[in-house]
Amino acid sequence: MPLGKATRLTSLGQILSILMIALLAWKMLHSKPQIPEDIYPYLTSLEPDLVLSVQTEGLSLRPNAWIDILAIRSTLSEKELAPIIHQVYNNIHFDKINWGTIDQNKVKSINRKRDILQNFPYFEPGRFTFPVKGKTWYDNTFGADREGGKRRHEGTDLFGPEGTPIVSVCSGRVEQLGWNRLGGERVGIRGDDGNYYYYAHLYSIEPSLKVGQTISQNTLIGTMGHTGDALTTPDHLHFGIELPNGQWINPYPLLKVWHNQGFLAP
Ligand SMILES: [Zn+2]
Repeated sequence: MPLGKATRLTSLGQILSILMIALLAWKMLHSKPQIPEDIYPYLTSLEPDLVLSVQTEGLSLRPNAWIDILAIRSTLSEKELAPIIHQVYNNIHFDKINWGTIDQNKVKSINRKRDILQNFPYFEPGRFTFPVKGKTWYDNTFGADREGGKRRHEGTDLFGPEGTPIVSVCSGRVEQLGWNRLGGERVGIRGDDGNYYYYAHLYSIEPSLKVGQTISQNTLIGTMGHTGDALTTPDHLHFGIELPNGQWINPYPLLKVWHNQGFLAP
């Protein structure tokens, strides 16, 4: 029965194509977004003091002058800087800057850094709020060993008195709420930028919060404690930032800037 066989083959082909399409769709839905590799190494390598001084410096010029100055200062040597910064100070638009004898690769790098600072506005004054409303101290311990080297520290610990109010650094949606083994009482906010902002070891979670709720920047989410695997340590907030591709970045330089930026916020 050649006809019947052909029909069977066709339907087999159809099933296979449907399976292929389904597989492709599943892959598209579950593939992690690609993030260009130069973005976060640059942002987290910036010295908080440099960012803050450049923002103070740019205040008297125009709103985003600090972005130009920061991209320039984080690329050129002291010797190369003066004639270029001078032009920014004279309100010459970035695209009109005369780079003189500066290496074209350096000019390219400055352009790229400027794009990064504009499109990933972690340092933009007023865009983020420092999460601890009270006295706090913290260090750069990102990547330090935990549980005898079994895992790495993927955030910053901000120490302070139990009960110190903790607020959301950005606007977003409540994604995780309640207890987990390591984090204890924890809150996870999906920021409007797509990143996951994680607040752990809380003493208490703000009772009015609900999963799925949208919240604005500076919303009270709980109070500082030492719950979860922090039971035997002093009270602290563990704060982490996970990118949409699952990578945790070092929040320390960002926190340092947000903490000292209050006076710059509009
Ligand atoms: Zn921690």
